[in-house]
Amino acid sequence: MIRQTVLLFGPPGSGKGTQAKKLEKALRSPHVSTGDMFRDHQSRRTELGLKVEHILKTGQLVPDAVTNEMVRERLLRPDASLGVILDGFPRNVAQAKWLDTFLTTRGYGVLGVIVIEVPDPELASRIKSRAAKEGRSDDADEQAIARRLDTYRKQTEASVGYYKTANVPVHVVNGVGSVDEVERRIASALGLVVS
Ligand code: ADP
Repeated sequence: MIRQTVLLFGPPGSGKGTQAKKLEKALRSPHVSTGDMFRDHQSRRTELGLKVEHILKTGQLVPDAVTNEMVRERLLRPDASLGVILDGFPRNVAQAKWLDTFLTTRGYGVLGVIVIEVPDPELASRIKSRAAKEGRSDDADEQAIARRLDTYRKQTEASVGYYKTANVPVHVVNGVGSVDEVERRIASALGLVVS
């Protein structure tokens, strides 16, 4: 059986979560968002949630060992056995290498990497309106936003480079337009048929 995973990259506010939900339907694989998982831990006030509270609020990366372990547990759940849509992971080269080993030893392949691109001014206005709607503290804090963007440019984009050298198909998709338009661009990049 071929087990396929899609990795979604894009700066904060680029619409990864929205598009991951669309892909979830098209690929019939679960959407796994490390950001959502950390926020879920926070709202349940678990030990992990309390540990990462300050890190998330200030827009820093959670240590790799903590994040990788959370992802490992998630990917071992039965619903992930046919593959997953990963949103927000990996975020640096060390995480990408860890994921590579994890997937290879379990016979998974990466169907493709999608990089959603959106110009910075548009990102800023999207994050502002999300802050008003969802009340994420890291979306309301200018410094946290700047730090997340900086981390994306410096560390996460380097992990896109890692996939390019590993010969995994990397598709750069324009993230400006309606949700449906972006969905169509992603689907066609991955060779999927959308209804
Ligand atoms: P965004 O893409 O809008 O910045 P996410 O919801 O993907 O937001 O992530 C929110 C926060 O969760 C990040 O700023 C970071 O603190 C933490 N986080 C998410 N994914 C990772 C990861 N792979 N490694 C380390 N920290 C992460």
